Amino acid sequence: MRQTLRKLYLDLFGTFAKPARGVHILNGHYLSPGKGEASVFREQLNALREGCTLVRIEDAVAMIVNRTKVSDPLVAFTFDDGFEEQATSIAPALEEYGINAAFFINPGFIGGDAAYRENFLRNRVMTPRKAPMTWDQIKALHQKGHIIGSHGQDHLPLNTDDRDLILHELLAGRQAIEHHTGAPCEYFAYTYGGMNDFSLTALNIAKSQYRYIFSQSDHRHYFSFNGAVINRRHFEPFWPVEHVRYFLSVKKT
Ligand SMILES: [Zn+2]
Repeated sequence: MRQTLRKLYLDLFGTFAKPARGVHILNGHYLSPGKGEASVFREQLNALREGCTLVRIEDAVAMIVNRTKVSDPLVAFTFDDGFEEQATSIAPALEEYGINAAFFINPGFIGGDAAYRENFLRNRVMTPRKAPMTWDQIKALHQKGHIIGSHGQDHLPLNTDDRDLILHELLAGRQAIEHHTGAPCEYFAYTYGGMNDFSLTALNIAKSQYRYIFSQSDHRHYFSFNGAVINRRHFEPFWPVEHVRYFLSVKKT
């Protein structure tokens, strides 16, 4: 039965899901919810290379912002929440394919003690048993040409008008990253990523702090919030490639 369903799925999505021309930004978190094999992402990248061109994230962002007309399906990557496997497995795979990613991290998680991390995993990102990257790993990612973005200091929800909380998330997060990388932090991805997860107060403060702001929502459109936010499509490295291709088949406007 499982095999039959899988075949049906492949017939429906695998065959017809041709990636559409345009710039697609994917957003993932980990190799798998448990202990993931580094090879799964390489297999996905291999398969995606058939029919898509993999590009650097800053190039994808520039094309979206400049509304560059592109004649191919282009795919760029971002990863949120700062898990260690992003530095040890995901970034090396991207480098082998000649591209980079933006990693949106939470400085509180990086520097937090055991109790902080436990609360972060359980109540903020709902992903048990993951370790954070270290600042040394983050610095190395930056030096290898990846982009280190902020995902807020403590991964707090920003669907709020509490200016102190918003400033803490946006400013402390950015300053910690700039302190450790020695470079301006221009990318910000707000937590939870939906249209209702970001208040206009938070948006206005974010606009004054960061050059580019990202959601994880409405991937059919390049922008939301009246052009102020760039939309990303959720995926994970372990997903079947036909599943990812299906989402890339959408014509973006
Ligand atoms: Zn997150």
